[in-house]
Amino acid sequence: MVNNMEKVEMRVLDKEERIKNFDEVVLEYTDEEALKEANRCLNCNNPRCVTGCPVNIEIPKFIEQIKLGNIEEAYKIISRSSLLPGICGRVCPQEKQCEGKCIKGFKGDAISIGALERYVADEARKNNFKSVTKKEDNGKKVAIVGSGPSGLSCAASLAQLGYRVTIFEALHKAGGVLTYGIPEFRLPKDIVDNEIASLKELGVEIVLNAVIGTTITMEELEDEYDAIFVGSGAGLPNFMGIKNENAKGVFSANEILTRINLMKSYKEDILTPVMEGNRVIVVGGGNVAMDAARSMRRLGREVTICYRRSMDELPARKAEVEHAIEEGIRFQLLTNPLEVIVDDDANVKGIKVVQMELVDDGGDRKSVKEIPDSEYEIGCDIVVMAIGTTPNPTLINNSDLNHTDRGLIIVDGTKTSREKVFAGGDAVTGSATVILAMEAGKKAAWEIDEYISGK
Ligand code: FAD
Ligand code: SF4
Repeated sequence: MVNNMEKVEMRVLDKEERIKNFDEVVLEYTDEEALKEANRCLNCNNPRCVTGCPVNIEIPKFIEQIKLGNIEEAYKIISRSSLLPGICGRVCPQEKQCEGKCIKGFKGDAISIGALERYVADEARKNNFKSVTKKEDNGKKVAIVGSGPSGLSCAASLAQLGYRVTIFEALHKAGGVLTYGIPEFRLPKDIVDNEIASLKELGVEIVLNAVIGTTITMEELEDEYDAIFVGSGAGLPNFMGIKNENAKGVFSANEILTRINLMKSYKEDILTPVMEGNRVIVVGGGNVAMDAARSMRRLGREVTICYRRSMDELPARKAEVEHAIEEGIRFQLLTNPLEVIVDDDANVKGIKVVQMELVDDGGDRKSVKEIPDSEYEIGCDIVVMAIGTTPNPTLINNSDLNHTDRGLIIVDGTKTSREKVFAGGDAVTGSATVILAMEAGKKAAWEIDEYISGK
């Protein structure tokens, strides 16, 4: 057995080529690469990696099957815990979760669990492996609000338990952020479509263009269904509240990404293009900022990320930051916008910024303060705000679900203040991660099952 300390790196598309298209940047392992990486795993008796996985995938067991060349069995093992492995293998922050706990990481590189999970999922898709089992129909009906990862995972677990599940989605396409937010070059949409198709095979019905709270009320759902899960996410973008922020040319990252990912604004003859203008400033330093910046780069724009802390504090995944730098995105660090500068027609001309300095006040995250008299202007045509999101208030305003001042639904476990209504994912926690939303959906499914069955 090979137990070398260095992982098998995933190959990536050439940086000059990839900024001309939306093709997936990181390439799947070949069979040889997957085998070599799997063979580094120690198959630990007490696998620390599993404790780092929010949905407790039996990691060493599926890796053992890769070593044996039995990819279908590896897929079945993963599917016992997650129905979205092709998605999680690509977008989960494994470095903070399973890989962050892997024993191999103490003296060398952790096992590339995400890359191996993705390999298994991609092979399963190519070879049409099936894995899920389903109990007999129990006649009970559950409605799910929102088709993001929390809703999808809740639906999958309930359908497997024999429930009749209907998902109501406000948009014209299912998947939540997986579909409208995360770009093709990180998460190809055929992967999302394929994993949603496996849900439909379980009998889950998806009703699109249905906004709960307006098109259909919560009361109507309550009358018709035995329980409801709300996984409506946190899709309302935050803005800074600075002068001229409503000028033509200032967008939220969500709008830019929706135009590009969902409405395919990079194709010819599209109805929702991205505004003209070459110089783009993206404000923020998280994954959403990187996604917006890298998407605009692929539309041929010059892009600068403006972030108020330094490189070390960037909240985005390290790999995404590295890819952004390789793709020619500039970083204007320790810089905070004060005002959008506009011309007489309210078009963006630039932003006025101030320089910041880090202050070590002993906390986990360094705070920042403005450096006096350090304001200056940066010219640009488009400003993209990527500074966080909160839940969309449509549902909250049209139901009496208890919620916080920020609009987050308050739950006990996953139970809300309304009888038969459960909730999870970003709508409860605020913007988090795909796997945490999936975990919440799964947990809600168990609680809904307990509630309906009375067990
Ligand atoms: P969402 O995915 O937001 O889905 C909610 C769904 O509910 C949406 O489809 C919405 O249209 C629908 N909805 C809302 N209100 C209603 C209503 N009233 N009626 C009917 N439907 C409704 N996480 C990672 O782990 N890794 C990443 O790399 C990553 N990158 C990201 C990049 C971007 C650009 C963004 C925005 C987020 C990213 N995240 C990432 C975060 C992750 O995507 C979210 O935490 C996750 O999608 C939350 O899942 P959810 O099911 O709670 O909500
Ligand atoms: Fe393999 Fe690392 Fe998990 Fe041990 S902790 S079983 S080496 S992936």
